[in-house]
Amino acid sequence: MTATATRVLVLNSGSSSVKYQLLDMRDGARLAAGLVERIGESTSRLAHTPLATGGEKRETEGDMADHEAALKAVAAELAADGLGLDSPQLAAIGHRVVHGGLEFTEPTVIDDAVLEEIERLVPLAPLHNPANITGIRTARALRPDLPQVAVFDTAFHTTMPEHAARYAIDVATADRHRIRRYGFHGTSHAYVSRKTAALLGKDPSEVNVIVLHLGNGASASAVAGGRCVDTSMGLTPLEGLVMGTRSGDIDPAVTFHLKRVAGMSEDEVDELLNKKSGLIGLCGDNDMREIRRRIDAGGEDGERARLAFDVYIHRLRKYLGAYSAVLGRVDAVAFTAGVGENAAPVREAAIAGLEEMGMAVDADLNSQRSDEPRLISPEYARVAVAVVPTDEELEIAQQTYALVSA
Ligand code: ADP
Repeated sequence: MTATATRVLVLNSGSSSVKYQLLDMRDGARLAAGLVERIGESTSRLAHTPLATGGEKRETEGDMADHEAALKAVAAELAADGLGLDSPQLAAIGHRVVHGGLEFTEPTVIDDAVLEEIERLVPLAPLHNPANITGIRTARALRPDLPQVAVFDTAFHTTMPEHAARYAIDVATADRHRIRRYGFHGTSHAYVSRKTAALLGKDPSEVNVIVLHLGNGASASAVAGGRCVDTSMGLTPLEGLVMGTRSGDIDPAVTFHLKRVAGMSEDEVDELLNKKSGLIGLCGDNDMREIRRRIDAGGEDGERARLAFDVYIHRLRKYLGAYSAVLGRVDAVAFTAGVGENAAPVREAAIAGLEEMGMAVDADLNSQRSDEPRLISPEYARVAVAVVPTDEELEIAQQTYALVSA
């Protein structure tokens, strides 16, 4: 790495998509951002925004047969702005990797051995890790000389004590098949818990925070003095909170029932619980804006949307109670991600009536909009309730840059 290399390209490779951002680590400025969708289809589409020049979003449609074609198209767009992958200013590429198992507790510079290890984790994340691996392989082929770093969604949760990470099942079976609670969204929980401490003017080591990451996927974490001590997602992202399309916590016997009584196959049950449950299963919509609109419109349809909202909030409140007990002392509750940052009614309903637990929301503060971290609790409340926008790309870029510039 040369002294002038201060840029990091962040890649988030999905099975048929790649999201990317190019950041300058001198000030965290975003130079470019974009998304390739429908890789492998004839209708692939690349949307690229050249943020450095303030230019218009450019959209390219075409046949991007695989991740290699997609990344080459991204590289061409970046090059058109003078930000090509061959630039000496590019310090590293940071890859989001979903599952790091117990092996990866920190961001890791990728070499052949690391890549093999990520491959050994595929059975734990069959949908996600293969796509991440393809992204890494493709990027390494394009710039074999450039440091590439894997930043794991599970890493922040590897500090969970054994009693929080273990399922109460036969230990030998669990160990043989690596069955335990890993947790996900770790990059966001790490970033938001740190930012929350900063908002309180404290060091992360001094505060206990409950982070509620409420996006389409949703998870809660209990963070004690900067270390995760519990989180709501488990072996897979299916456990925990009610999500856009996932059920979250459910009696595992429901799955036996669906197979034995409803005659569903393994794949059908998987699809039901991951794709057709949660808010969409309860009311047919997974977008909180639409659910609020239906509730406000009233009628029978509004009732259905209201039930979905209430189930969502009830689960959230159960986790607030559970993590208050896990932490013993709570200094802050932080709402983040699409729903957490934008849906004031969700924040209000989640905290309503919890004054005895030291938690309250000020209606005026809660209704204000801002992209900055902010407090929404009244001054008298013992627990700070905050809205803290997440930034997983910045966190991946910072972790990547810290590693390669050390
Ligand atoms: P992902 O998990 O896909 O990264 P996001 O964190 O972007 O998701 O969250 C997406 C969700 O955020 C949407 O499905 C929607 O429910 C919610 N959302 C986004 N904007 C708003 C808004 N203004 N008001 C209420 N909910 C919103």
